[in-house]
Amino acid sequence: MTLLVAGAGPAGSRLAERVAQQGIPVVLVDPLKAAEQNIFSSAAVPIEALTDLNIPDEAVSSYWHGWQLVDPQGRSHQWFAARDLGVVLDFGALRKQLWLKAQQAGVELLLGWRVKSVLSRQDGADVELQGPGGLRQTRSFEWVVDATGHHRSLIGAPERRNNSSAEELLEGFGMEWILQADKNSMAVWSQRLTFFLGCHWMPHGYGWIFPMANQQLKVGVCRLSPKSKPGLASLSSFLKRLISENQLDTLPILDRHGGVLSSTIGRREAHSRGRIVAVGDAVSTANLLGGEGIRHALRSAELLAPFLVALFESAHQRQCSDQKLLLEYENLLRRRLGWRWNLSGRLAKRTWWGLCDQRADRRLSRLIDGLSQRSSAEDLSALLFEYRFERYGLRLLPYLMGWR
Ligand SMILES: Cc1cc2nc3c(=O)[nH]c(=O)nc-3n(C[C@H](O)[C@H](O)[C@H](O)COP(=O)(O)OP(=O)(O)OC[C@H]3O[C@@H](n4cnc5c(N)ncnc54)[C@H](O)[C@@H]3O)c2cc1C
Repeated sequence: MTLLVAGAGPAGSRLAERVAQQGIPVVLVDPLKAAEQNIFSSAAVPIEALTDLNIPDEAVSSYWHGWQLVDPQGRSHQWFAARDLGVVLDFGALRKQLWLKAQQAGVELLLGWRVKSVLSRQDGADVELQGPGGLRQTRSFEWVVDATGHHRSLIGAPERRNNSSAEELLEGFGMEWILQADKNSMAVWSQRLTFFLGCHWMPHGYGWIFPMANQQLKVGVCRLSPKSKPGLASLSSFLKRLISENQLDTLPILDRHGGVLSSTIGRREAHSRGRIVAVGDAVSTANLLGGEGIRHALRSAELLAPFLVALFESAHQRQCSDQKLLLEYENLLRRRLGWRWNLSGRLAKRTWWGLCDQRADRRLSRLIDGLSQRSSAEDLSALLFEYRFERYGLRLLPYLMGWR
């Protein structure tokens, strides 16, 4: 009667904690050996997420209350609010805190282990685990959760039915360095999220500079292009350009990391298969427009937990079949993300895939000018974190949709 959770990112760790709190034995495995390893996420979240999703204070690196957009011509546009709008998390500290809470709830955490294969049976699953030094173990579990993020190691890639675009998987490839700044070099980046938009900065993508505690900066680029995976050399050359054109190239580099962000636009993929149920990025909860997924990963874990607990109850204790419960989870998550989610996915595809020439740059500049004239910092947060495109009415929507 044990649950196996594969992947100790935000989704897997939170889910493991919630299920263990209900008295069910849970094993959580991840090939990572330490929380600070490959801290790929730039981890900006809106302020409401701290309380709504119980994000531990210890994971907060810095607070921000402004937005800065650097347009294709290199002009900087700024918006500031009178209150904090969000935080930049320390992704390593976030993992560490979530692991700690999971262990306090009774979860057995196996670091340095990965799930190699799962064989679903009628009443459970046989799982092959691979540990340090090639060690192998086969163990049986009642249910297995795929929380392996974009790897989708157990649930697999979304199947495309009838060639529908709803299951089309879009992928963004990111690279980020952490720089040690000082008081002077920090001044123009602190207390705001800065994005660099336009082909000069990153064709089919964007760059960013986010402030962290101890005068550190997260500087990164992400590319979401219709073509295949960009080479590391290409990402790194745009990242170096961003660093040097902002006079940050003399700062010591503390860490280099990278990662992948992937989601289907319509989120129509199956969320379970046999004895495997998937959560977080593994079922496309990452939002591609703003490149953020931590809150949605945590939310999906909170939603899935009660369904998993119900799956552990014996059949005569409940009215619903396993299949019905799993379908309810899938539908609830879809409803919770809402119609704006689909629209933001479509906008992400149009915006990033189309950002490849001067015409697209001009469209982007007009959009930023429009935002400068009409919007507040709070409006930008509502646009990028709540996907409230309708607030901009008919004036802005055509720019976003690429009609002007
Ligand atoms: C460059 C970049 C920048 C980002 N910036 C932001 C941002 O500013 N704000 C934001 O909210 N989000 C951001 N994100 C997205 C965010 O980090 C993810 O949406 C979030 O981490 C998803 O959580 P998860 O738990 O679903 O998956 P993950 O965090 O990806 O965790 C999956 C875990 O599964 C493990 N794993 C893989 N294979 C196996 C296996 N076979 N067995 C066991 N374990 C396995 C991995 O080691 C990993 O620890 C960014 C992502 C990238 C790539």
